Amino acid sequence: MTARPLAVIDLDGVVADVRHRLHHIEGGDRDWASFFAGIPDDPLLAEGAAVAERLAADHDVLYLTGRPERSRADTEQWLARHGLPRGELVMRRDRDRRPARVTKIALLDRFVAAGRVVGVVVDDDPKVCAAMRNRGWPVLVADWMARSDTLDQAQEDLGAT
Ligand SMILES: [Mg+2]
Repeated sequence: MTARPLAVIDLDGVVADVRHRLHHIEGGDRDWASFFAGIPDDPLLAEGAAVAERLAADHDVLYLTGRPERSRADTEQWLARHGLPRGELVMRRDRDRRPARVTKIALLDRFVAAGRVVGVVVDDDPKVCAAMRNRGWPVLVADWMARSDTLDQAQEDLGAT
């Protein structure tokens, strides 16, 4: 058994640049299928990849994403293709529509209940970062991808990424 603390790393806006597919969920006609179908084409965010690499030296990496389980295969292939550190991938259940800040805490609490220590959480969503901090976990705010209102709304109101 390992005793290393967890480095909890978000995907969208941290290591994956989702901006090229946000247009699918802008405006009234939100096309979630197309939005998630674009996952394989996400450019890598070099800053996030460097942070993940650095943390992997003395943490167990856990990728915690609001992406739904149905995008697991595409996401795992993407992580491997870009050479990101290996780590467990924890995703939102397909019908979970709660805000990311609620879902992510609930998902992570399971690991804490099992005795794991959260060393650091890396996320780009201000509301997620605030909730994690309130929960008592150290947070590194990922501020290297310009955020958009669309992404904010998707994570807070639509519970979809
Ligand atoms: Mg994010």
